[in-house]
Amino acid sequence: MKINRHYLDLEESYLFSTINTKVSAYKKDHSEAEVIRLGIGDVTLPLPQVCVDAMKEAADEQSHAETFRGYGPEQGYPFLREAIAGYYEKKGIGLAASEVFVSDGAKSDLGNILDIFSEENTVLIPDPVYPVYVDTNVMAGRKIVYMDACAENGFLPMPDPALKADIIYLCSPNNPTGAAYTKEQLAAWVSYALDNSAVILYDAAYEAFVSDPDLPRSIYEVENADRCAIEFCSFSKTAGFTGTRCGWTVVPDALIFDGVRLNQLWLRRQTTKFNGVSYIVQCGAAAVFSEEGQRQVKANIDVYRGNARIIAQTLTECGVWFTGGENSPYIWLACPDGMDSWDFFDALLEQANVVGTPGAGFGKNGKSFFRLTSFGSPDATREAMKRIRTFLKKEETAD
Ligand code: PLP
Repeated sequence: MKINRHYLDLEESYLFSTINTKVSAYKKDHSEAEVIRLGIGDVTLPLPQVCVDAMKEAADEQSHAETFRGYGPEQGYPFLREAIAGYYEKKGIGLAASEVFVSDGAKSDLGNILDIFSEENTVLIPDPVYPVYVDTNVMAGRKIVYMDACAENGFLPMPDPALKADIIYLCSPNNPTGAAYTKEQLAAWVSYALDNSAVILYDAAYEAFVSDPDLPRSIYEVENADRCAIEFCSFSKTAGFTGTRCGWTVVPDALIFDGVRLNQLWLRRQTTKFNGVSYIVQCGAAAVFSEEGQRQVKANIDVYRGNARIIAQTLTECGVWFTGGENSPYIWLACPDGMDSWDFFDALLEQANVVGTPGAGFGKNGKSFFRLTSFGSPDATREAMKRIRTFLKKEETAD
């Protein structure tokens, strides 16, 4: 038996474990300190009530022989696939329910989709990046080419015609940078993908946070994107499903490579290796698309948007460069005086008792940047910003 030795090429993921170790050590020595965490990208608001009610009702159905459901369709129940297609229709995008695949979250599908692509493909990945794109390709031994996301390009890298890639990862609004592509920029990517017979894996996990009506919330808002892009989406951040688990993947029928429809390949992959998301969870997810569900989800997102505004205001006041926050729950700031992101993490923890995420954890281009999230409570966010303001003013005076 030979193991998959590509796993040995993975870099240890020290980011969140190092953060936790540092925070625990600090708390041990300063038991009185009230540390505020604006680091990990998990939500804090509970599930919308409509989702809870729908799941309770579904659980009840499971307790009666007449309404009990066993195995469901691997690709999701028609009621949820149709509701998702209806959500796209409201954005002016026509999708058949058969082009929508229900998943247990975007992370699994972002990794699993690679099953249908040859290991010989070259993969183009932005740096900094959500680490899952890198690690899942390292596991398969694929060649990875990085494109720089930096302050000069607004953390939104554009295609380089001289560079040949087969699989392209785009995430907009972006984790970790919060930057969001315009429709024109996405059109340039679609055009590059079509010219190079490449596929775009478009991660739209944060689409619900786009507040600028001119910015796209799906890559399919761009003409011909259905011929080159797969879109991944999630209920995690939109509706607080991080622990409940549900998402979806769109594989359009028009996506044909080597004469093969990717929709058929993905259907075969899913029906072979996946047994679907639980009926109860799918009922909860479908409730998100009801009128009341949309109202409740928007109310939750508005709370996070309010937090992002508080963070953005503080940084603007303190003259700190940042991107994100407006169309995203993430704020990506330049560490003062080009400070290393881990040094900034330590200083912020020790002097302001606030925890963020060092940009170095997302790639080399993140080493002097820092991520704050708007997923905390409004009170905690306000208090954290008060402390950060004092901390930054102190740093300025020290200079
Ligand atoms: N994509 C991005 C960019 C994310 O930041 C995350 C989670 O943090 C995911 C996907 C995973 O989402 P899910 O909870 O649906 O697996």
